Amino acid sequence: MSIEKKPFGLLASGEEAQLFILKSGDFVVTLTDYGATLVSFLVPDGRGGRDDILLGCSTLSGYLAKNPYFGATVGRYANRIGKSRFELGGKEYRLAANDGANHLHGGLKGFNTYVWAAETSEGRKGSSVKFSRTSHDMEEGYPGELAVSVTFTLDKEGGISLAYEARAKAETVINLTNHSYFNLKGEGNGTILDHEIKLAASSYLPVDSTLIPAGAPAPVAGSPFDFRSPKVIGRDIAAAGGYDHNFVLDRKGPGLFEFAEVREPKTGRRLTAATTLPGVQFYTGNFLAGAQGKRGGVYEKHSGLCLETQLFPDSPNKPDYPSCKLLPGQTWAHETLYRVIC
Ligand code: BGC
Repeated sequence: MSIEKKPFGLLASGEEAQLFILKSGDFVVTLTDYGATLVSFLVPDGRGGRDDILLGCSTLSGYLAKNPYFGATVGRYANRIGKSRFELGGKEYRLAANDGANHLHGGLKGFNTYVWAAETSEGRKGSSVKFSRTSHDMEEGYPGELAVSVTFTLDKEGGISLAYEARAKAETVINLTNHSYFNLKGEGNGTILDHEIKLAASSYLPVDSTLIPAGAPAPVAGSPFDFRSPKVIGRDIAAAGGYDHNFVLDRKGPGLFEFAEVREPKTGRRLTAATTLPGVQFYTGNFLAGAQGKRGGVYEKHSGLCLETQLFPDSPNKPDYPSCKLLPGQTWAHETLYRVIC
């Protein structure tokens, strides 16, 4: 087990971003404090080498440029808020409309654009980096100062745990996620259409043309959204119009619930995902066309898949969904665990 820290580059403000390289068993994870971002995840290739199964950028400038949230911590409210507004405590709050008329992934300057404070540690569970920051009252239009941290821990068995904690000084809304794009063949090696996925979700949220959930969950049975048994992603993707939907997890109680298993047929690699949250945005990189990738590469549509664990999209405006409200004195504590089996 080891943790190495090295400079990643400078922001326009003069702030310095760092890289944190965590090694545990045969696995190597690189993170940056810029956006509390997962930069790479090197896993054994069975021939003495390693493949990087995360899409992203090789340099800080790639992350500073507009990019599709590669590996980033997304907040204060991940996913969409319809019409960029919500009411809380009888008051209306207006947010930046950065996705048509809707608000997406925390706005114009979301959590993914800040350099977070970082603290490293090595413990029984593995090598960890804890990133933290304070989001000020009315930052991006959200009420209430919010102290937030995400602790990434790499264990020897290819597991990365993401443990979130947040406390607010005044009532607010919150939805934190990580936006990693996985490709189990290794990033830059084509699309994920040949990956097989199983999702423990009997229902999902149908969306309108702007990707805002239309209302109540619908059963997946008999639809292109049925992944209750393993199914190749490419099979029904055209009928679904690309996957970019919240799946309602079939959890049986509180705690970590393993909801996904992805398998890549050529390498035989598997990825499992577990979470304490009620939903996951299964996103198949539908908008990736031409994104700048690592080592000069370019990512085309469907080059990676995201399993963004979350509360449901637009929950500030949907009282029937699990609540996204956080009150002073409460702690928002959630965990997501991705594990690669080689
Ligand atoms: C959204 C997509 C969006 C992507 C990158 C996903 O979480 O659901 O619609 O294009 O993030 O911003």
